[in-house]
Amino acid sequence: MQFSFSEEELMIEETARQFSINQLQPNAQYLDHQGDQVQFLAQIKQLAELGFMGINIDEQYGGIGAGSAAFSLAITQLARGCAATAVTTSVTNMVAEVIQAVGNSDQKDHYLPKICSGEFYAGGFCLTESNAGSDPSAMVTQAIKSGDDFIISGSKLFITSAQYAGVFVVWAVTDPNAPRGKGISCFLVDADTAGITISPAEDKMGQKASATNEVVFNQCKVPASALLGELNQGFKIAVTELAGGRIGIGSLALGIGLAAMDYAKAYIKQRQQFGQPLANFQGLQWMLADRYTELEAARLLLMQAAAYKDQGQPYATSASMAKVFASEKANDACYTALQLLGGAGYSKEYPIERLVRDVRITTIYEGTSEIQRVIIARDLLKD
Ligand SMILES: Cc1cc2nc3c(=O)[nH]c(=O)nc-3n(C[C@H](O)[C@H](O)[C@H](O)COP(=O)(O)OP(=O)(O)OC[C@H]3O[C@@H](n4cnc5c(N)ncnc54)[C@H](O)[C@@H]3O)c2cc1C
Repeated sequence: MQFSFSEEELMIEETARQFSINQLQPNAQYLDHQGDQVQFLAQIKQLAELGFMGINIDEQYGGIGAGSAAFSLAITQLARGCAATAVTTSVTNMVAEVIQAVGNSDQKDHYLPKICSGEFYAGGFCLTESNAGSDPSAMVTQAIKSGDDFIISGSKLFITSAQYAGVFVVWAVTDPNAPRGKGISCFLVDADTAGITISPAEDKMGQKASATNEVVFNQCKVPASALLGELNQGFKIAVTELAGGRIGIGSLALGIGLAAMDYAKAYIKQRQQFGQPLANFQGLQWMLADRYTELEAARLLLMQAAAYKDQGQPYATSASMAKVFASEKANDACYTALQLLGGAGYSKEYPIERLVRDVRITTIYEGTSEIQRVIIARDLLKD
């Protein structure tokens, strides 16, 4: 068993770390409060130029083909500086990976360079609906065959980056008579297709600089060539690709948790009470020891899932374990950090208040903690 990274992986992590420290972290508080989309998108473009929108995409399509461990390392570093930027990066990579995994050569040639180069800023992953969240098989968005085209009608909720995405991967029912989950297909839909309406961004608790929108498809005509993968096999695609996405969200949670604990660690070393630094009190030292130990365990679970993925082994259960553990421990870390700062932790003048809000969603999106446990238990109990 080797606990070492390749030179390329270390270089990618270091590039992400530098970008995070120099570009993301100084702007994170401002973007959270002001929602300055121009500046936010400028950061996304810079990240694309550094290769971060196609970390696991082949070089022939404009990616850097660095693998899942590099992806995890990069997302963690970006999230240390700005969770909103990290989620846009993570989801866009997931969209690119769906296209790389099941797209035909025309689709890959057309879309992947636009995503990797930042021409599209982002890709949107359109799965959730108002009545189909944890249970996406309950979706009602339909794609009806009409001559050489499909007509898509329905509405997708909570879509990350929708208002600046160039392309959507959209799941829709193509065989309403099939058993649940068996009649769903996946489509590549350009964001400027007639019939698409994108609602104003949700007013969220955290990760406020990243837009989350409803996307309505009103009789949206797409050519048959927009079908991604095989007809009626879309549900399998969603389940498979979400597993990869969960490595991204777990890594993102880890980055937020580390940012919070690093800040709190520095704070208790300089803050004096009872005539000495807070860091002298053993009760607080144990809080640090426990949270850093948990975050390190999260990192190892994420690396294990990434290694299985890169080796072509089954990794969905590992990814769920990593996601549920990393996101829950990162939430604990942010709450501990807030406690360590006392009243200052509750003030918007300090970054911990934002990190507590930013980390909260990580146990919810790309499958809640409960759904990760369903996936893990199902695997444990199978014959
Ligand atoms: C900021 C944000 C960004 C998002 N981005 C995207 C995106 O880009 N693309 C996309 O498609 N979706 C996106 N989502 C949607 C997200 O994935 C869903 O919100 C999530 O999967 C949960 O679905 P739900 O909100 O409908 O909750 P529900 O499914 O209604 O669940 C409510 C509660 O019930 C629990 N529950 C449900 N079923 C079970 C069960 N069988 N056993 C035990 N407990 C259960 C859940 O764990 C949860 O605690 C985003 C959401 C947010 C808030």
